[in-house]
Amino acid sequence: MRIFKFGGASINNIERIKNTGNIIKDNAPQKLLVVISAMGKTTNALEKITEAFFENRKEDALQLFEQLKNNHLEVVKYLLVHNWKAAEDQLKEFFTEIEWMLHDKPVRNYDYYYDQIVCCGELFSTCIVAHYLAEQKVNVKWIDVRDVFRTDNNFRDAGVDFDFTATKINEEVLPLFSTNDVVMTQGFIGSTDENESTTLGREGSDYSAAIFANILHADALTIWKDVPAVMNADPNKFKEAVNIPLLNYTEVIEMAYYGAQVIHPKTIKPLQNKEIPLLVKSFIDPSLPGTVISSRIPKNLPPVIVVKENQVLMQFKSKDFSFVEDKPVEELHQLFEKVKLKPNLSQNTAISLLCCFDDHAEKTDALASEASTIFDVEIERNLTLLTIRHYDRPAIEKLTENKIIVLEQKTATTVQVLMR
Ligand code: ASP
Ligand code: MG
Repeated sequence: MRIFKFGGASINNIERIKNTGNIIKDNAPQKLLVVISAMGKTTNALEKITEAFFENRKEDALQLFEQLKNNHLEVVKYLLVHNWKAAEDQLKEFFTEIEWMLHDKPVRNYDYYYDQIVCCGELFSTCIVAHYLAEQKVNVKWIDVRDVFRTDNNFRDAGVDFDFTATKINEEVLPLFSTNDVVMTQGFIGSTDENESTTLGREGSDYSAAIFANILHADALTIWKDVPAVMNADPNKFKEAVNIPLLNYTEVIEMAYYGAQVIHPKTIKPLQNKEIPLLVKSFIDPSLPGTVISSRIPKNLPPVIVVKENQVLMQFKSKDFSFVEDKPVEELHQLFEKVKLKPNLSQNTAISLLCCFDDHAEKTDALASEASTIFDVEIERNLTLLTIRHYDRPAIEKLTENKIIVLEQKTATTVQVLMR
């Protein structure tokens, strides 16, 4: 059995849905579990709807939802020939559920409503694609993953109950393959033991697919993307970016840790634990080899470059020029947690602590103001954090040319440079 995961870009218009359908159909004689994200920018649109609802702007929320409904109904109308009525009926059931909620007044917290509303993006998309596949004579079964993925009630970042979910998958999903070639379902969402919808964090579908792969002992997980392979740098920023044909799990975890937007960081562990290879392939040209990620350690990796813009450097200096002691540093780390900021880089000196963060202004301002009771705080904004794994001298020189280096840290494999 294999697991396929398609992102929102692979189904953001009719042509692409057909293309995705063809990829699934071509592979369907073997058993496939397919996880698909919400169409295009649907998740962002649903976030806007949640905000409007929660701010008691009911009319805005309903109007935005109307647009989203129409987008999906339009796709159904032009994509489907025989199954359009069945697809429309199924979609309308989901629509009604959300509209009931939008007509209410919010009485619970934001994250709860976020999950009840945002979860429907993947329900809509998978419903449409499953009906399309059925029209293409693929033996497909659609399932609502919320009946299978049990989570805690930490809304918007729900933790998966592995034991419960594994039992459900083995007892209820696996048997479906005796009569179906393809099981189509959603990533990113789950539900609590009280049947409330939950989400696993933005871009969480990769992670869902990896959990399916782990529990079903899949031969491989393929993540279909709009790039030819995992590359050593963002091709939009570096025209010399190259494809990396082979990577190992640890390298991908490291790349994600430093901010490369390759694969959701939680995806790797469930695969690594069972040594299931992860293939990253292009849905635009499936004949390309893509990238194979496994436990085999690749030789001669090119320098892997990650650039993070919009960084802020905060310097926390002890007020009386004494050494920075353990206790204030501990307090500072508690503040980081409180405002939900994690340093991307930090360095101690005798009398100060330097930390670089993504500059979410509301968070960094709150941190600066709270920390100023313990430290003198200095801030520098608009910096760029460059990380190079498997660096060499020429790579560092080229990428820091004409820049002023504010902070630099090196290990044997990785260099990080904060620059102006
Ligand atoms: N649709 C969700 C998102 O856009 C989950 C995913 O795509 O992985 O974040
Ligand atoms: Mg996505």
